[in-house]
Amino acid sequence: MKTDAFIGLGSNLENPAAQLARAVAELASMPGTVLVAQSPFYASRPVGPQDQPDFVNGAVWLSTELAPHTLLDHLQKIEQLHDRKRLRHWGPRTLDLDLLIFGAQTLDDERLTVPHPELPNRDFVLQPLLDLNPDITLPNGSPVAQLRQRCPDNHLRKLPPVARDPASPW
Ligand code: ATP
Ligand code: CA
Ligand code: CA
Repeated sequence: MKTDAFIGLGSNLENPAAQLARAVAELASMPGTVLVAQSPFYASRPVGPQDQPDFVNGAVWLSTELAPHTLLDHLQKIEQLHDRKRLRHWGPRTLDLDLLIFGAQTLDDERLTVPHPELPNRDFVLQPLLDLNPDITLPNGSPVAQLRQRCPDNHLRKLPPVARDPASPW
């Protein structure tokens, strides 16, 4: 059985837009998974500590046969491929992959809370989700468009599409 899963991507170190472009290709090549669509990327001010570079964020829509915890295992493996270090809470990172929405399922255990609990507070997550699907709703029926209107503004700036480097294997 295939489930529509939405993944949030973020980076603020070592060429963030290139980190995200590579991560999209890696997400698309997970087993039992196809990439349905990819959002534009946005620049935004960091959440939490302000003494760090701006973030680049985006989201992808996947159709996957993976179970949610297996999907999280893959997300964490991909973060490791990008040499992610866990330095401080909400600190700078080369790649952050969050499972935002997993079909109509709600989950809450020690590893996984879905939908992602901060989703209603983050315009840099809500806007890419709306770009992917303007009619998207949470499992509780809340339209994401309505959450976006109520969300604090974080000075989102839409970035031009990343030009693909023909020399890159991704
Ligand atoms: P935030 O969750 O506020 O965006 P963060 O992304 O910086 O913060 P991390 O350090 O990347 O947090 O992740 C901490 C833990 O969050 C992970 O080890 C993972 O088990 C857990 N987690 C819970 N729910 C989710 C989810 N929906 N997507 C990704 N990780 C999750
Ligand atoms: Ca995050
Ligand atoms: Ca995370």
